[in-house]
Amino acid sequence: MSRILSRRDLDFLLYEWLDVEALTARERFAEHSRETFDAFLDLSALIAERDFAPHNRRNDLEEPSFDGERVHIIPEVAAALAAFNESGLISAAMDEELGGTQLPLVVARACFLWFQAANIGTSSYPMLTMANAHLLATHGTPEQIETYVKPMLAGRFTGTMCLSEPQAGSSLSDVLTRAVPAGDGTEPTRGGKPMPNREYRVTGSKMWISGGDHELSETIVHLVLARVAGAASGVKGLSLFIVPKHLVGPDGTVGARNGVALAGLNHKMGYRGTTNAVLSFEDATGYLVGAEGNGLAYMFLMMNEARIGVGAGAVALGYTGYLHALDYARERRQGRPVGAKDPAAPPAPIVDHPDVRRMLLASKAYVEGGLALVLFAAKLLDEPSAENDLLLDVLTPIVKAWPSQWCRLADDHAIQIHGGYGYTREYPVEQFYRDNRLNSIHEGTDGIQALDLLGRKVVMRDGAGLALLLSRVRETAAAAPADLGEPVLAAADRLARTTAKLWAGGDATVALANATAYLDAAGHLVIAWLWLSQLAAAGDKSGDFYEGKRLAARYFITHELPRTGPLFDLLDSRDTLLVDLQDAWLG
Ligand SMILES: Cc1cc2nc3c(=O)[nH]c(=O)nc-3n(C[C@H](O)[C@H](O)[C@H](O)COP(=O)(O)OP(=O)(O)OC[C@H]3O[C@@H](n4cnc5c(N)ncnc54)[C@H](O)[C@@H]3O)c2cc1C
Repeated sequence: MSRILSRRDLDFLLYEWLDVEALTARERFAEHSRETFDAFLDLSALIAERDFAPHNRRNDLEEPSFDGERVHIIPEVAAALAAFNESGLISAAMDEELGGTQLPLVVARACFLWFQAANIGTSSYPMLTMANAHLLATHGTPEQIETYVKPMLAGRFTGTMCLSEPQAGSSLSDVLTRAVPAGDGTEPTRGGKPMPNREYRVTGSKMWISGGDHELSETIVHLVLARVAGAASGVKGLSLFIVPKHLVGPDGTVGARNGVALAGLNHKMGYRGTTNAVLSFEDATGYLVGAEGNGLAYMFLMMNEARIGVGAGAVALGYTGYLHALDYARERRQGRPVGAKDPAAPPAPIVDHPDVRRMLLASKAYVEGGLALVLFAAKLLDEPSAENDLLLDVLTPIVKAWPSQWCRLADDHAIQIHGGYGYTREYPVEQFYRDNRLNSIHEGTDGIQALDLLGRKVVMRDGAGLALLLSRVRETAAAAPADLGEPVLAAADRLARTTAKLWAGGDATVALANATAYLDAAGHLVIAWLWLSQLAAAGDKSGDFYEGKRLAARYFITHELPRTGPLFDLLDSRDTLLVDLQDAWLG
């Protein structure tokens, strides 16, 4: 059995639960079938095992370094990326006109999980490149698509997202990077066709840029948020620019360096295989994407995709941690069952001890629940409709933050299950934990996701998103066995009541004072719902796999969902302790 990911679980979720084969009835996916889905999944598992997993450790121990001129990265990374690019996976979900195969996003997401679980550091380069290409394919001009998207999908260029600055992380309204128009509005032309002048000069400093510098590709396509001179303050004044590391000529050749310099690499706790750069833009040539002032709106396409990607990364790391812990617990012998009388009897495998089982079962419920959430969200993108878009909107902060917290706990349990060995660098689980620690921070911290959920998503359009989510939850819970359905129905009612109570009076400071508790409760309710839904898909099918699904569903509802009670109590009290405390009292 692979210790990277469970193909059996993916097959269950994709085919038995989400019925992704039914997507092939849609025109966009008409060329696909279970056979093509399986071929992509098989290929992903193969390349992940063969080219990504083996250098995961080395990538961590020998992290990228900068000698003042060049970035050095172990050679296995370029080889793995070449294998990924050659496989066609990089463009698999894209339109046929762009050389893609229009693979449903849910299947593409499942495929990519193999790479994230095998080697999160190396997999970040294609993840960012794919999201960048998708944004530009949606909002770029035909020329921009020709010049940047196609080479990215051909594996020649890689992409980044440059939002953060030293002083502007959670608050992008404080972005200072500025852009000034470069020309007189008449040039340049491409293929004889006049192009509105999109050329600007971009100056500023960007912080934390993943994949921000390296020599893994011919050039790097930075997507940079900047403020055009004279634009409004706040996020409304932000525009989006393509700022390539090298200038790319009209015939597509990569030319001289642009005004983008690597000021240094950050040295991280985990995710070390991905370079993380401080970039300095000095009169760099940039090309406006879309219209001025719409930068953040365009970027949200990439950010929302990246948020699902971050949730998926957290699931992948938690899942592989769980599988490693499970293997270890079956092999490691220590202690004897409570009640065993004979000290000379052979020690038991630790998987027999209830406390180890507690951690294993909790981890299984988190990672399989998180995987279900991520795939469910990805499938909503494949079936766009007013309702599905709304549901995805309300779920996105949970998709990002819930796995970041709870699938990381699976990695924490994996260390605990390994005992002292888990705390050493001789075993891989400590790296999974360190890698997973990032997911609560980037793409909007979990705290920011909580504010987004409670401050925007559940109140937008008069609460239509929350009402839709709760109607889906209730539908599933009403059809479930009463002992498991009723607690979920009760929690759904509480979420509705608590939300109304929090916003009664309309004081945002009071309502949002415990936003994280709200996200925790809503997240656990959503996962409980998806466990009931998986339970329904398992039906009364027999075998260990389905027994495991039924047990994990029961565990989640009976052991985990009750955590929401005290959270709802706290929220209902409209407690303002965290608002009222004075900084000086903290010591
Ligand atoms: C390894 C790594 C990779 C990254 N990759 C990229 C990338 O490729 N591109 C990119 O643009 N950025 C990237 N980032 C940046 C990342 O998105 C930011 O670090 C993140 O948004 C937080 O910003 P900050 O670090 O400035 O923290 P701050 O915004 O200073 O936050 C510090 C703490 O304060 C809290 N906080 C801040 N504001 C509020 C508020 N209004 N209400 C409540 N709590 C608040 C936060 O939740 C957090 O706990 C990356 C970061 C890391 C560490």
